[in-house]
Amino acid sequence: MHERTRLLHVAADEKPFRALTVPVHRGSTITFPTLDEFRNRHEQFYDGYSYGLHGHPSARNLAAHIAQMEGASDALIVNSGMAAVAGTTLALVDQGDHVLLPDAVYGPTRAFATSVLVRFGVNFTFYDPLAAADIERHFTDATKLVWVESPGSFTMEVQDVPAIAAVAHSKGALLAADCTWASPLGFKALEKGADVAVQALSKHIGGHSDVLLGSISVRDRKHFCRIKDATGAIGLGVSPDDCYLALRGLGTLALRLEQQTRSALEVAEFLRSRPEVSRLIFPALKDDPGYDLFQRDFTGGAGVFSIVLRQGSEASLANFLENLNLFRIGASWGGLHSLVALADLETQRTVTPWNGDEVLVRINIGLEHPADLIDDLAKGLDRYRDTK
Ligand SMILES: *Cc1c(COP(=O)(O)O)cnc(C)c1O
Repeated sequence: MHERTRLLHVAADEKPFRALTVPVHRGSTITFPTLDEFRNRHEQFYDGYSYGLHGHPSARNLAAHIAQMEGASDALIVNSGMAAVAGTTLALVDQGDHVLLPDAVYGPTRAFATSVLVRFGVNFTFYDPLAAADIERHFTDATKLVWVESPGSFTMEVQDVPAIAAVAHSKGALLAADCTWASPLGFKALEKGADVAVQALSKHIGGHSDVLLGSISVRDRKHFCRIKDATGAIGLGVSPDDCYLALRGLGTLALRLEQQTRSALEVAEFLRSRPEVSRLIFPALKDDPGYDLFQRDFTGGAGVFSIVLRQGSEASLANFLENLNLFRIGASWGGLHSLVALADLETQRTVTPWNGDEVLVRINIGLEHPADLIDDLAKGLDRYRDTK
């Protein structure tokens, strides 16, 4: 045999390597020992391995952990949280169907509805996220899918998911839940009545601001098959290295969330004392309008909340946020680093308008010591107050 041929056929070492980590399995081609197995490889599409795009051990390991946390029959890993939302929707609706979306939905989900769904003849209605059973008035005969996102993006409304699930099911519609904020540790959407639970794994589960992944978990295997067919056909595969990072994040998820929630409560109590802050929006606080539902339905929080500032100039806002020492300005959250972000809520709301005089700042509390974060924000709010 020529050397270059031999170099192509190095046998894998099959001796067990008992590391504590889950191995990364890279591979697009999967090989089959017999013609029959190759011809019937589609039978391996849902649970086995047919082609790297449709699953590899790294993704299946991660999916198994997510399914267990969500209490799901099956889970699927896709390449971003947004792919999880879009893939679920495209799989579950047909032309002419109608979808309900909460007005506080993640901005790119809103954009997906208004710029993509609409072109395929799928209609949608935004509803008040605080509507519980009275969501019923938005249903038409064509309503097939209802989304909840709880708490909502930026404005953190806690939704009555069981009440909305009951209405959706009585109308023959499915309920899909994007409950990334609390992760499945803090909110079990499937137990609360959702048929599909979506997570942006890019947030808490990845946990280090260095990976983009999403998960789709279902209660009923028939929905899994439908969603896997659609996401596979669109080509939503995932990198095994990214799955490795998310698997690593799982090990510290509970500790990170506990610490971040505790630090966030401490920072929020400090912010309450500052006259520049007119309102705190954080369901884990006892005086938050969402606290009762949070207590009823959640078993854990997160370090992400929003504050509303009393009117200041653009220059005072910039002096506050741009000159923070520890907090960086950036989208996304759930990582180790503290962040601040602004939202363009005036253009992001259609049925629950946002008062344009109010400036909302979303805060992600990282793993820095809360006293250092408070010090940074105190100096920032002094700048906010003193800048004309
Ligand atoms: C971040 C986020 C997403 C999107 O996740 P990506 O992985 O960034 O695409 C979806 N829903 C919610 C609620 C999010 O916060």
